[in-house]
Amino acid sequence: EQEVPTGRGKRRIGVMGGTFDPIHHGHLVAASEVAAQFHLDEVVFVPTGQPWQKSHKHVSAAEDRYLMTVIATASNPQFSVSRSDIDRKGPTYTIDTLRDLRAVHGDADLFFITGADALSQILTWRDADELFSLSHFIGVTRPGHVLTDVGLPEGGVSLVEVPALAISSTDCRGRVAEGDPVWYLVPDGVVRYIDKRQLYRGE
Ligand code: ATP
Ligand code: MG
Repeated sequence: EQEVPTGRGKRRIGVMGGTFDPIHHGHLVAASEVAAQFHLDEVVFVPTGQPWQKSHKHVSAAEDRYLMTVIATASNPQFSVSRSDIDRKGPTYTIDTLRDLRAVHGDADLFFITGADALSQILTWRDADELFSLSHFIGVTRPGHVLTDVGLPEGGVSLVEVPALAISSTDCRGRVAEGDPVWYLVPDGVVRYIDKRQLYRGE
């Protein structure tokens, strides 16, 4: 059990940002585990618009990534999906995501969930100081990456061990391109959607 920041009676909302190109079971297990350990009421998945760190890479259409995220989360009553980032013009910055969610969810406590790889870059994100005033940050373990909080504000970040799933979207895309299966790496409906839309074929 984690020691959690108090705020009696306030809604506790997890925020899972990602490119989700495609969403996979690593994302879902991380969100589920943090929701349980931190007694969250809800986890909002927020597919990015054009991610600024990936501006030089090809990213699938926002609508496809959004729909795969909806398909993957639809059966879980605690999970929802926000269009906030894909409907905002321009590159996605987490500061804007958190400001938007704050506006929608009023005085809820926000918990931004991020894998070990993304956490180590957090201080390079835009408006890092304000980020920590808008949300608590939760760094989760990810195979192949070291989870440390060096340089991050005292008390602003919790580190959480989640079941290790060595799955990445990059690997899933590569598998589809090679004709290898992604069954059981991504939810069944996402396998079907990738096939229906012929995503990742020519990569
Ligand atoms: P890509 O390979 O395209 O970068 P990805 O698998 O890293 O895709 P993202 O959409 O970039 O997926 O990740 C969204 C968030 O989920 C990030 O904070 C990332 O660290 C975290 N995450 C992704 N995969 C895992 C995993 N297997 N275990 C734990 N966290 C993960
Ligand atoms: Mg990534």
